[in-house]
Amino acid sequence: MMTIMLLIYFLCLGLIMGSFFNVVALRIPRGLSIVHPPSSCPDCGTRLRARDLFPVFSYLLTKGKCRACDARVSGLYPIGEASTGLLFAWVYWRFNDSIPELIVGILLISLCVIVTITDLRYMLIPNKILLFFAPLLLVSVLYQTQQPIWSHLLGALLGGGVLMLVVWLSRGGMGMGDVKLLTLFGFVVGLPQVILVLLIASFAGALIGAVLLLTKMIKRKQPVPFGPYLALGVLISYGYGNDIIQQYLSIFY
Ligand SMILES: [Zn+2]
Repeated sequence: MMTIMLLIYFLCLGLIMGSFFNVVALRIPRGLSIVHPPSSCPDCGTRLRARDLFPVFSYLLTKGKCRACDARVSGLYPIGEASTGLLFAWVYWRFNDSIPELIVGILLISLCVIVTITDLRYMLIPNKILLFFAPLLLVSVLYQTQQPIWSHLLGALLGGGVLMLVVWLSRGGMGMGDVKLLTLFGFVVGLPQVILVLLIASFAGALIGAVLLLTKMIKRKQPVPFGPYLALGVLISYGYGNDIIQQYLSIFY
């Protein structure tokens, strides 16, 4: 009973935080303040009222349109809110027996949601966001980890190093934002899980990239954001990396 109440609590907390992450992800890359001015319709400038600020539900009630001018509201907003809500509920369910691991999970999800939105919208992973989360993750990971510190350091080194190589070889196909992001992710999950992050991200990127190419939603050679795939990879690895690697190794032993 308690668990279900807390699951619902984390779901709601995630919905509200997701709504805030939308604002952060929209404004930080443009150098705007995240608190001022209050949110308004980008088309007609009408301020959003309290009833417009319920995550997901406001979007559904207004059918994704501005109340004043009928301009379409981006579907990224409710998707970001719903994803954050579900991910917060998931991470509580996964780590409810360990508060420190839960805290790392919440920080990781927050970072993942924000950089996914900025990367999809602006093709950018802002330094400000990375610099905000890096020290928080560093401290909370070192506080709770059962891996040796060198595992985290090597994870960061390998993650950043491999993508650095890709940046160098692809001549602009991948940005430095991805390198910094995987350096941080690599530190969080450590070695060998960082390899899993890379594998999942590459596989998901190739798969979804192929689908987008085949359906002509993107053109060949068009740069695609890699941040969202790294985010997917790190969340799976943080939640289940050990189990996946154990399973994989058990094939051979
Ligand atoms: Zn409007």
